[in-house]
Amino acid sequence: MLFSNIKDGDTYRYLVNGKWEKSSSKDLIEVYNPSNGRILAKLQSLSKSDIDDVLKNSKVSQKKWKNTPVNERADILMRAADLIVQNAELLSDLLSKEISKPKHLGMHEVMRTADLIRSTAEEGLRLHGEYLDGNAFYHSAKKKKALVDREPLGVVLAICPFNYPVNLSFSKVAPALISGNSVVLKPSTQGALSVLHVSDLFSQAGLPQGVLNVVTGKSSSIGDYLCSHKDVNMISFTGSTSVGKHIASISGMKPLMMELGGKDGVIILDDADLDLAVKECVQGVYSYSGQRCTAVKRIILVEKIANVFVKKFVEETKKLKTGDPDEDVVVSHLINRDAADYIKSLIDDAVKNKAKLILDGKRKYNLYYPVILDNITSKCRIFYEEQFGPVACIIRVKDEKEAVSVLNDSSYGLQASVFTNNLDKAFSIASQLDVGAVQINGKSDRGPDNFPFPCIKDSGIGVQGIKYSIESMTRLKSIVLNFK
Ligand code: NAP
Repeated sequence: MLFSNIKDGDTYRYLVNGKWEKSSSKDLIEVYNPSNGRILAKLQSLSKSDIDDVLKNSKVSQKKWKNTPVNERADILMRAADLIVQNAELLSDLLSKEISKPKHLGMHEVMRTADLIRSTAEEGLRLHGEYLDGNAFYHSAKKKKALVDREPLGVVLAICPFNYPVNLSFSKVAPALISGNSVVLKPSTQGALSVLHVSDLFSQAGLPQGVLNVVTGKSSSIGDYLCSHKDVNMISFTGSTSVGKHIASISGMKPLMMELGGKDGVIILDDADLDLAVKECVQGVYSYSGQRCTAVKRIILVEKIANVFVKKFVEETKKLKTGDPDEDVVVSHLINRDAADYIKSLIDDAVKNKAKLILDGKRKYNLYYPVILDNITSKCRIFYEEQFGPVACIIRVKDEKEAVSVLNDSSYGLQASVFTNNLDKAFSIASQLDVGAVQINGKSDRGPDNFPFPCIKDSGIGVQGIKYSIESMTRLKSIVLNFK
């Protein structure tokens, strides 16, 4: 599979044991270009017996890989990162075709992923165990010493969503590989092409056969089978809360890392720098059409500054460019028609429940222009439900106390932001918010990738971030020395 051969309508194969194979089912799945509705490519629809073979191969390959010195593993990751950078233009083109990601955002995703892989390789070199002495514990036998080591878990199943296919796939693959696991990667059907290409670059970088296998297929036929398979030792999943909860219910005792939906809120206080808050909120709501887990999905304004903020926010939003992803736009097509229908249903419901539609984004099939809804209350579905689209949801409150209570009135707990020039207030509010991370004077943001990205409540289980992801993909093992 070579980049120079990419043509629209191509049939892709899946990657197992270093080879590109056809599924035994002979079935294919079509991938569409969201911005024109045309078929972009076809993927293999794997059968359960293909999955059995892949997992058998991953299990065998892992045994050798875990004995490969970590500096050799790091060299391979570094070479893969270099190849990603060399192919960045082609990969960002592909992202714009398969998920309608504006070119500059696709390029950012690709370059960020190369950085993440390099940092993960470096962090892996620093991974070490510890030594404990039994005489440090009051009631212990004195003559014991423990060497505590970190071991890989085995075969990691990585499942990724459509919105950051490259970044979210390889932010799982890199920590898994550096710590000696093998990986079975199941990309989102819409987003699989760029993942297959990057996986090919890992092979070109010298990754041994079978250490990274990539499977494609219908979730309805192989999803549950994969997640409950006895040869999977860990699942690292990013996607919607409903699918995440379902996977958790069928995966038995497997360790889980789950990054799920979000409903990130921004609180803007009366002493905030409003120009900064407007700029951050416009980017936070609309970048990549709001199809981001950390998109700003609620703007909570204290009454005193609400009118001024809204006026400035409308002005800035009207300046945004909307259109095809290969033009220089911020808002492009939603991933499919169902996604756009869902956005429409949230807007209609809000208007029915007395919200004010102050910017009425027009719609062309699955392309939605920016929408602003003011006076949202808890009667509206959008107060609670995750809008994965370019819709600003403005909630007006009396004061800080009510702002905190509205922000916490959500089943999600990814991130939140507070805009204020009073640092004491910022810290006091941050400590009251039930979320994984709080941004002060900035929009929600997953990066930089060495920061922890904790997910709580219905937003997930565990912590991603380079060092934390490596830790989650290893287990502690102690060897205890007993002395006479
Ligand atoms: P999704 O529908 O949940 O799909 C995610 C992945 O799960 C896809 O690869 C999908 O495959 C697969 N899948 C579906 N059913 C499965 C099953 N039964 N077993 C195994 N795999 C299954 O999510 P999405 O629409 O792609 O992504 C949007 C959601 O992801 C939003 O809720 C967003 O907030 C969340 N997200 C969260 C984060 C975070 O860091 N917290 C980051 C990005 C996105 P198919 O495509 O083949 O169906």
